[in-house]
Amino acid sequence: MPQNLLDCDLEGLTAWFTELGEKPFRAKQVFHWMHQAGVADFAQMTDIAKSLREKLQLHAVVQAPAISYAHTSSDGTRKWLFDVGVANGIETVFIPEEDRGTLCVSSQVGCALECTFCSTGRQGFNRNLSVAEIIGQLWVANNSLRGEVNRTSGELAERPVTNVVMMGMGEPLANFENVVTALRVMLDDHAYGLSRRRVTVSTSGIVPAMDRLAERCPVALAVSLHAPNDALRDQIVPINRKYPLRELMAACRRYLVHAPRDFITFEYVMLAGVNDQPEHARQLIELTRDVPCKFNLIPFNPFPDSGYEKPRHDTLRIFREILQDASYIVTTRKTRGDDIDAACGQLAGKVADKSGRVMKRLKQEAA
Ligand code: SAH
Ligand code: SF4
Repeated sequence: MPQNLLDCDLEGLTAWFTELGEKPFRAKQVFHWMHQAGVADFAQMTDIAKSLREKLQLHAVVQAPAISYAHTSSDGTRKWLFDVGVANGIETVFIPEEDRGTLCVSSQVGCALECTFCSTGRQGFNRNLSVAEIIGQLWVANNSLRGEVNRTSGELAERPVTNVVMMGMGEPLANFENVVTALRVMLDDHAYGLSRRRVTVSTSGIVPAMDRLAERCPVALAVSLHAPNDALRDQIVPINRKYPLRELMAACRRYLVHAPRDFITFEYVMLAGVNDQPEHARQLIELTRDVPCKFNLIPFNPFPDSGYEKPRHDTLRIFREILQDASYIVTTRKTRGDDIDAACGQLAGKVADKSGRVMKRLKQEAA
C-alpha cells in the first residue's frame, strides 16, 4: 500500500523520507508543495529531482477524501459532503466573513456520545477519521476556494481559510492522536501556518483528554456546556455522568495555564423550556465564577424528530442580559447556511452506524 502523505505531520514525513534513504529537507519541500501549493501530483513538484519524483510515485500518494457534492448557501456559506467509504460521508462547512474565513471540520464519522439535541449524535458512530481525512478537509477547502473572488471584499483570496474550528461531526478529543497530528499540520509554518488562537477544538468535556491536549497541542478551547447543573447536564450531555461539572470546571482552569487565549469559550445550545430560563443563567454565573470565560449562545437548530425547539427571541435576550449584567462577554451565534443544512448540529453526513443506537431507537419508536 502506498503511504498517503496527507497522513503525516512534518516530523512524520521527515521520518518517512529518512526511511526511504532521502534527506530531511526533501520532506519539507514536499510538505510545502502539498499544503501551501495544494499540489497532489508529484510530477508537478518541479524543484524535486526527477528520480525522487518517480520514487515517490511508486511509494506514496497525496489523497484527500473524495467530494460527493459541494453546495453554496445564499449567504455564501459552503458545505461539502466527502465520501469516506462504505456508505459513510462526513461534512465540512466554510463560513466566509468580512475579516476571516472559518472552516468547520469533522473529526469522526458520527459520534459515540449521545447528546440528545445533536443530529450527529442521533446517527450513531462508525469510526474515527484518519489524519488525511481530517487535514484533507482543509486541503480541499483551500484548493476549491483559492483564487475565488472574495464576495465581500472583491479581492482574490490567496489563503481563504484563516480559522479552523473542530466543530463538525464527531468529538475531536475522542479521536485524540489523529486530531493532534492534524492540528500540528494546521499550525506548521511550512504548511498552513495558522496561529494557535485561530484553531479551536470544541469538546463536550472529556476531562483527561483536555489535560493531554494542553500538554501536547494547546489551541483555543471551546467547551460545550449546555447546562448549569449536573442533573440537567446528565440528561442532555450524557458524558457528564462520567465527568461531572466540578471536574470539568477544574479541567478548564488547568487548560488555561497553557491556552493561547486567556479564556475558555462555553458553548450553550438554547433549548426552549429546557435550559433557557433565568434561573439557568444565574446558576451559570455561579458555576463559572472561577473560570475566565466567554459565552457563545447557540439557538437550537432543528432537525426532524428532534423533540426540541429553539427559544423565543425574548427568552434568549433575557438570558443573555443576565450574563452580560454579570460582566460576561456573550455572543449569540448567527445561524449561517441553514438553507443548506450547514448550521451547527445539522450536519448529518452519512453514518453506517456500528453502535447499534439507531436500530435501538427505531425499535423503541416502533413499539
Ligand atoms: N463534539 C464536539 C464538537 C462538535 S459539535 C462538541 O460537542 O463540542 C459543535 C457544537 O454544536 C457543540 O457545541 C454542539 O453542542 C453544538 N450542537 C449540536 N447540535 C446542535 C443543534 N441541533 N443546534 C445547535 N447546536 C448544536
Ligand atoms: Fe457528539 Fe458533540 Fe454531537 Fe455531543 S454535540 S453528540 S459530543 S458531536
